[in-house]
Amino acid sequence: MPAICQHLAQLTTLIPAAEHRCPECVALGDTWVHLRVCQDCGHVGCCDASKNKHATKHFHAVGHPVIASAEPGERWLWCYADEEMVGY
Ligand SMILES: [Zn+2]
Ligand SMILES: [Zn+2]
Ligand SMILES: [Zn+2]
Repeated sequence: MPAICQHLAQLTTLIPAAEHRCPECVALGDTWVHLRVCQDCGHVGCCDASKNKHATKHFHAVGHPVIASAEPGERWLWCYADEEMVGY
């Protein structure tokens, strides 16, 4: 068992991505690489391999630490606060 941080331990249900696009990139007319979904509010943003890094920007803007991958077949969560990844 990997160690699970307090943020991950608080999660009871996983929030799925409401849409399979990064709304902020769409608004900018930009593209993204992978999608991440905030597990506090369901915000959909793009990963750090994407030019605009909207998932990371969301964490810095509002402090929601836990994201999940919104990519099909990827099953993991990441905590920005503890820089820790867990599968599920
Ligand atoms: Zn954490
Ligand atoms: Zn984006
Ligand atoms: Zn959020």
